[in-house]
Amino acid sequence: MAFVRDNPQLLYTIFLMVAVPVAFFVSGYQFLRSSQNIQTKVEQTYVASVHDALVDTVREKFNDPSAVQDLINQVSKRNEDIIRMVVLTNEGDRAHIIASSRTSEQGAYVPIGTTDDPTKPGYELAVTVSRGSGTYAFEMADANGRFWRSVQAVRDGNDAVIGFLLTDISMKQLDAISQRNIYTADLWALFLVLAIMILLLRHARIVDYTVLYRKLAEVDKLKDDFISMAAHELRTPLSIIRGYASMLVESKSLAEGDHHQAELIDRSAVQLNALVEDLLNVMRIEQGRMDFTFVSLDLASAAQEVADMFSISAREKGLALTYEKNGAVMAVLDADRIRQVLINIVGNAVKYTPAGAVTIKVFSDDTKKRAVVRVSDTGIGISAEEQKNLFGKFYRVKSDETKQIRGTGLGLWITKQLVLNMKGTISVESIKGKGTDIEVSFPLVG
Ligand code: ADP
Repeated sequence: MAFVRDNPQLLYTIFLMVAVPVAFFVSGYQFLRSSQNIQTKVEQTYVASVHDALVDTVREKFNDPSAVQDLINQVSKRNEDIIRMVVLTNEGDRAHIIASSRTSEQGAYVPIGTTDDPTKPGYELAVTVSRGSGTYAFEMADANGRFWRSVQAVRDGNDAVIGFLLTDISMKQLDAISQRNIYTADLWALFLVLAIMILLLRHARIVDYTVLYRKLAEVDKLKDDFISMAAHELRTPLSIIRGYASMLVESKSLAEGDHHQAELIDRSAVQLNALVEDLLNVMRIEQGRMDFTFVSLDLASAAQEVADMFSISAREKGLALTYEKNGAVMAVLDADRIRQVLINIVGNAVKYTPAGAVTIKVFSDDTKKRAVVRVSDTGIGISAEEQKNLFGKFYRVKSDETKQIRGTGLGLWITKQLVLNMKGTISVESIKGKGTDIEVSFPLVG
């Protein structure tokens, strides 16, 4: 019960599972009823028009019973729906059958109360009909199926009643057709209801997924909280370690061997600090807490600043770091975030290039109205397969060349998010073993 309360969608599904088939059958039933009413009207009109036509012909031949009989024979032969046709006159309390499709009663005198079934209107009705002028039609049924019995007075030129025409027109064929249609419609309805049921059952499974999703979201939040808390807690002791480590590195009183160890501590502390900062940045971006202060700035100067920043480490590695620009390239960006983006990209280029050059080009693409920075290197390159995951969180290419290079696999994910937040795009072109080009572009200002 508590499960149902926590998952109101389940009630909704159950409601639909009952309501949909009921609505389906109610509407189907109503449709059937209204079409049956229409069918009755159509049948009445049909029967009346057939009867009107017959009565006219009977009138013409009325004085010649054998001609009337011929007519009846012909009509019965040609139209198998007309299962009975009788022409009679009323003599006192008897009906005189002048002609009939039933041979046995041809020429007979029968009491007007006589019918094949006393509950059905027959000859007596024919006699009472003389008062009206239209066709009187009654829907009936016997062992052979449904039929319409119609009676109409035959009148002479002076409008005097001279006799009656009684016909039974069978609806057997029509009923067979509509029965077939109803059967097919029922099958379709059943099929549709089944299909809807299957759909709803599948819908019910979504409830499971919702529960699962909620649990996952909870676990995800726990994970985020934990990382966030751990990263924050690590920051203070880390900055103390870094402070003392750099003090030791610069200390003149340390022995040569100790100096090297102090440097190792310092380097590891720097790396750990980078990891902590990356983790905090991931959290900020994911929780939408990363602030951006947009200003119109020169992308070229921002890139120059970063190029200068890496000039020493590039030189130490023996790499030629060049920076090219064509004047100022203005874009609306956050100064700190664009620096972070460029540091990540240029930093990677230097990091993953064992020998050769790193080139930073800043230019404006005037046709596309973009401010572009392209960082090219002659490094280890990234295969097409690896490029697919390049911007994924924690993704690092695992190869012999990258084994010795430290990193978190978060840099490019953060970079991409920052670029997207600044309405920019980032793309990569690379050939394994030859080098990599990473390009970021932003809407150009001015
Ligand atoms: P990391 O901290 O590992 O450098 P990044 O997200 O910055 O993480 O980069 C993800 C991976 O992409 C790297 O581990 C590296 O394999 C690959 N990569 C990034 N930039 C380059 C580059 N310029 N040349 C070759 N590989 C690169």
